[in-house]
Amino acid sequence: MRILLGAASIALLAAIGPAIAQAPLFATTKVEGTDNVYIFRNGNHQSMFVVTKDGVIATDPIAYGRPTGGQTYVDEIRKITDKPIKYLIYSHHHYDHIAGGKPFKDAGARIIAHKNVRVHLAPLGDPNTVLPDESFDGKKVITLGGTTLELLYLGPNHSDSNIVMRLPKEKIIFVVDTIPVGAFPGRGMIDFYPIETEAFIKKVLALDWDRLIPGHPGQPGGRLGTRQDAQDVLALYQTASAEIKKLGQDGKCWDAVEKDYKMLKYATLPGYEAGLPMLARRYCGLWGRGT
Ligand SMILES: [Zn+2]
Repeated sequence: MRILLGAASIALLAAIGPAIAQAPLFATTKVEGTDNVYIFRNGNHQSMFVVTKDGVIATDPIAYGRPTGGQTYVDEIRKITDKPIKYLIYSHHHYDHIAGGKPFKDAGARIIAHKNVRVHLAPLGDPNTVLPDESFDGKKVITLGGTTLELLYLGPNHSDSNIVMRLPKEKIIFVVDTIPVGAFPGRGMIDFYPIETEAFIKKVLALDWDRLIPGHPGQPGGRLGTRQDAQDVLALYQTASAEIKKLGQDGKCWDAVEKDYKMLKYATLPGYEAGLPMLARRYCGLWGRGT
């Protein structure tokens, strides 16, 4: 009997093993070394929220293609605190990060974003994306329950609406998509400002911070980013730009570059195979067409 049970258990384990090995669909984790800074991850997207004695500052609902994702995020916050959700800050205007804000709005949150978020989204009328209540340019500082959060617009980068969110006391920044952590850039290149992004990353590096929360879990293992990661991504963009500049001016854009361009130094990064043609196309646009 015992042997039979054992065999059955092994068969069962074999059947459900892959499901166990996968990360749960969503998860909330406190950022190590902080009192009140959390990361909410849903699938391959993540956002930061801060719990204070006077309420919660949340960011990016990350609910594109996940109709219940915004409510899931609110429910996760509710497991930690019953304080009101005062703010919902958008990192930029791309739906995969900011669709699904309605449960936050219903909970009374004020939605804040860079001014170009509304400019882009108002004409599109996406039913799943709530427009900001308040727009800003340059710098805005939020203080709530002893926490200070700086919202900084440092010029166009991954889009013309991406901001940096900085917690000065914790020396943490939340930067979405512009500085992938341990991964190769990809589809996001479609809205990317090549020259301005190099200046942007230099400005980010001039700020005082130690750790970077990315909008997609850092590789490997969902780690946070470091200043070295920011420097590495800057070097990657600079290398691609310099190499494709020459190819573009030699008349090799689009076809030859999109087909043959390689960055072998980065070939082991997750996303390299899929992302390389996107990166090549964007820099060919710049150096082969002037766009
Ligand atoms: Zn994006």
